[in-house]
Amino acid sequence: MKYELPKLTYPHDALEPYLDEQTMHIHHEKHHLAYVDKLNATISGRSDFDGVEIETVLRNIKSVDERIRQAVINFGGGHSNHSIFWTNLSPDSGGEPTGAINNGIREKFNNFEDFKTKFTEIALGTFGSGWTWLASKDGDLSILSLPNQNSPLLEGYEPLLSLDLWEHAYYLRYQNRRAEYLENWWNVINWDNVNDRLNNI
Ligand code: MN
Repeated sequence: MKYELPKLTYPHDALEPYLDEQTMHIHHEKHHLAYVDKLNATISGRSDFDGVEIETVLRNIKSVDERIRQAVINFGGGHSNHSIFWTNLSPDSGGEPTGAINNGIREKFNNFEDFKTKFTEIALGTFGSGWTWLASKDGDLSILSLPNQNSPLLEGYEPLLSLDLWEHAYYLRYQNRRAEYLENWWNVINWDNVNDRLNNI
């Protein structure tokens, strides 16, 4: 089985002005595609990945052949992380969370503003390339800062909300202004998708 680049459920210009069309094209059709291609090259000639979702592979990373394990972490993580990132976004969203994730955030972080402050602090404190996550483990929510393309699934967390902090995610529009990218990103979060992820654990 070969892994495939997922289509976006909205046009590449739909998240303007917060995430610009050119960045979305390059990020999705060049960067994400490169992870998919490199993942497929890594598992080429093997049948043990046939029909196995990449999320399942990452949850069971210790069972992956050691000779290709780090490549699967890098490229499989890159594929999974970006697939989550796109579905976490929507043009008709933003605002405050609703439903179960709203309750979870209030329970763990007091209120949405306190959660945003904490998430922002952790995201801006991420050194170099990586991602910030809202993730769940054993029913408990956590904010994680993970380097490179390391997936929360590798550590037993279920990813709910992802923020790509690689420069390729924002440099064209925001240059070195990571904080401005982050402020704008809050406007396009698809909380329905975050709720679906929480409800499907
Ligand atoms: Mn990226």
